[in-house]
Amino acid sequence: MQRERTAPIATRLRGLSTSVFSEISALAHQHGAANLGQGFPDDGPPEHVVAAAHAALDAGHHQYAPGPGIPALRRAIADHQQRFHGQHVDAETEVTVTFGATEAVTAAVLALCDPGDEVIVLDPVYDSYTAVIAMAAAAEVRVPIDPPTEERGWHLDLDRLAAAITPRTRLLLLNSPHNPTGLVLTADELDRIASLCVDRDLTVVTDEVYEHLVHDGSHVPLATRPGMAERTLTVSSLGKTFSCTGWKVGWAVAPPPLTEAVRAVKQFLSFAGGTPLQHAAVTALGSDDTTYAEVTAGNARRHALIVDRLRDADVRVVPSAGTYFVTVDLASLGHDDADAFARRAPEEHGVAVVPIAAFSGTPDALRSWARLAACKREDVLVLGIDRLIASRRR
Ligand code: PMP
Repeated sequence: MQRERTAPIATRLRGLSTSVFSEISALAHQHGAANLGQGFPDDGPPEHVVAAAHAALDAGHHQYAPGPGIPALRRAIADHQQRFHGQHVDAETEVTVTFGATEAVTAAVLALCDPGDEVIVLDPVYDSYTAVIAMAAAAEVRVPIDPPTEERGWHLDLDRLAAAITPRTRLLLLNSPHNPTGLVLTADELDRIASLCVDRDLTVVTDEVYEHLVHDGSHVPLATRPGMAERTLTVSSLGKTFSCTGWKVGWAVAPPPLTEAVRAVKQFLSFAGGTPLQHAAVTALGSDDTTYAEVTAGNARRHALIVDRLRDADVRVVPSAGTYFVTVDLASLGHDDADAFARRAPEEHGVAVVPIAAFSGTPDALRSWARLAACKREDVLVLGIDRLIASRRR
């Protein structure tokens, strides 16, 4: 008799399954729905960036790049940190080019955590963090971001963050601007986090991929706060800023000891990837101020379109200070269970949204909340929003 085969995946990775984004995008595709779910842009990068990629191919940049990235891109990343954040970093010893922000986070967690070490993350959490913490056999500790009330939007209780730190805490894995809530931590909040990290001697990995998509206030990198430069690994990537999520050009900026640790692991994850795109990224990052300003302004316009249209229809919507994302309380449309709605909406209503509970360890508190992505063509946004409004249960 044949023995029943069990899933071959390792015990510590049993919780990992196909992400909800992929499932909902597949449904959106199958039913031709307006996809306000997954956060990839409809538009591509600016023309001069695409031209730079063509030119890099024509120039014959087809072979492996150096493991830490081509020197010109490491310099461009260092220049970018100085230009936008006043952060001085050494391109040689403090910058590593990675295969997207995802690889930077992955290399950092694998490099810095021993089995059983605690890693603090915010909940709702970006799913790749949970996955890599599991790969490292470390322990994920989630600090909830509170859902919006009548008075305020999504909110991180810093006392709760402080209370989550234990002698076993190895890393704080932060994300601001935050996916999926759109929460952008203020300079004051970052200063309080900084003093916590200094007091408790914590290392921080901070994912700042939405750094140029802040339309209310401005983005402040945690690494620029007092005492943080020597303990912070800053992660970002080209994907969101230049609408080229498929290029997977990312980076980690960190003091030399952290950089060495990340490079040690990164060389055995992918070694080095996307040489021609690394060359094009030099051009992208060196874009003029108008190009960067339009990135921020375009995102702000699309946000406003979503928020205004939903508000006009009396839908409870929380405008965010940054990221692609706008969050909506679907209970105001008569749908108390956003997860169930998200699974049937592509077929029944012709629109795809993402349930925020899918990012959470305490899904009940976030049951009716959904995330909409503003990075779509305006006609798609209008169609999707109108279909969402039309789904209202009376
Ligand atoms: N971090 C966050 C918070 C994200 O939202 C995303 C993209 N969805 C990533 C990382 C992935 O970035 P990349 O494609 O550069 O790996």
